[in-house]
Amino acid sequence: MHPTPTSGPAATNGRVSFWYAGAPLPERRPPLPGDLQVDVAIVGAGYTGLWTAYYLKQAQPDLRIAVLEKEFAGFGASGRNGGWLTAALPGQFRRFAARGEAVAVAMQRAMIDTVDEVARVAAAERIDCDLRKDGELSVATNPVQQRRLLDRLPALRREGWGEEDMVLLDQHDLADRVRIAGADTALWTPHCARIQPAKLVRGLAATVERMGVRIYEGTEVTHIRPGAAVCRQGTVRADQVVRGLEGFTARMPGHRRTWVPMNSSLVVTAPLPPDTWREIGWQGAELIGDEAHAYCYLQRTADGRIAIGGRGVPYRYGSRIDTRGETPAVTQVQLRDLLHRLFPATAGTPIDHAWSGVLGVPRDWCATVGLDRSTGLGWAGGYVGHGVTSANLAGRTLRDLILRQDTDLAQLPWVGRRVRRWEPEPLRWLGIRALYTAYRAADRRESAGLGRTSAVARAADLVSGR
Ligand SMILES: Cc1cc2nc3c(=O)[nH]c(=O)nc-3n(C[C@H](O)[C@H](O)[C@H](O)COP(=O)(O)OP(=O)(O)OC[C@H]3O[C@@H](n4cnc5c(N)ncnc54)[C@H](O)[C@@H]3O)c2cc1C
Repeated sequence: MHPTPTSGPAATNGRVSFWYAGAPLPERRPPLPGDLQVDVAIVGAGYTGLWTAYYLKQAQPDLRIAVLEKEFAGFGASGRNGGWLTAALPGQFRRFAARGEAVAVAMQRAMIDTVDEVARVAAAERIDCDLRKDGELSVATNPVQQRRLLDRLPALRREGWGEEDMVLLDQHDLADRVRIAGADTALWTPHCARIQPAKLVRGLAATVERMGVRIYEGTEVTHIRPGAAVCRQGTVRADQVVRGLEGFTARMPGHRRTWVPMNSSLVVTAPLPPDTWREIGWQGAELIGDEAHAYCYLQRTADGRIAIGGRGVPYRYGSRIDTRGETPAVTQVQLRDLLHRLFPATAGTPIDHAWSGVLGVPRDWCATVGLDRSTGLGWAGGYVGHGVTSANLAGRTLRDLILRQDTDLAQLPWVGRRVRRWEPEPLRWLGIRALYTAYRAADRRESAGLGRTSAVARAADLVSGR
């Protein structure tokens, strides 16, 4: 017997994210007092900006670095995400790596190492972010997903995932870790850790500040140009100006069509009673995702809840962003119903919080980092939902590019990639809407027992790089 499903909206909607619940939102550091001259100006205090500041300051302590943040450090995706510190390659690189291309395999190794690098720094700097490395489970919840998952395995081996890096679990092995309705096959990799996102970004901000980096909050940058970041309060002049705005990039003049702000939404349950955990299994902190085209992602939080995320409303016309993080009722219902399908035992548990955020998606679905030596303008982002790990790799890479060090990181294939701009509206909105309509239709057909991956979804994959 399973409990009666709970209905109604989440107790809290938006308010940035659940990761800030239970305490007032962070107080803002003082804004930029006026014009300023530094060596490096960084726009945006999320993981990208803060990791860049961290590694630069560590490498060269006398560098003068200013981080300029419109709201507060961790206001964006870095304070809202699903907490997957995953080694999975961002976007199209999976396709290159699956062909065994050496540079992409190097990129894969770099992502694997980066998971441990984040854990190392968190421990060294005493950033308590609930980090626990129990790996990642990709679960097939119907026969078509199962076939896709099995087909993926040879490609993963070519990408450099050895027998211990990626393990195929049968129904029995999977049930030992977690019991998910309808799931009897999964891939497990140890190269993924659970984090509490806001604790990581807030801890990182406090760390770089201690190192001597200046963070100005409530400071909107209105223009970026060679040698300067222009704010309402004054102009910050710097030899290098790094853009770390990911999902907010489209608002910066000149970047409307650089990366689209793609939405992602989550809901989190109240803490589950011990009986429910016993029924579900899931005693570890594995991150769990499915093999659906419009996939979902889950984490078991440190305080015994389940957070489940998915695409929701994927994109708003004209690259609009709802910054408060509110989640439409229909998305909340979709995520809650999905949770109940995967874990029927959760049906009686209330949903405590729903929230949303934006991540940056380039036209070719492929992340990029770079520094234009002629202008001193740097950038990183377009991580396509894998920014928790990629932003650290980007921060170390930007350090090497800014300090002109010709390292292996500076040779990785995402360095200096220039991406074709997105189409103007309404084509952009129509295209993204069509993509997700195709994915959702394919998922419905596959759940209904259609025997193979739908051709429409395969075509959509070619566009999205998944
Ligand atoms: C709901 C959700 C779930 C996700 N889940 C995962 C996950 O589990 N694993 C994973 O790897 N990735 C995930 N991602 C993606 C990941 O969180 C992002 O890729 C990553 O946090 C991007 O970091 P960032 O520093 O580049 O951008 P952000 O964290 O978005 O930071 C940009 C900052 O710039 C500030 N800003 C905006 N405009 C201006 C301006 N004009 N002037 C100054 N400052 C400005 C913003 O306030 C913000 O603080 C998720 C994203 C979302 C939204």
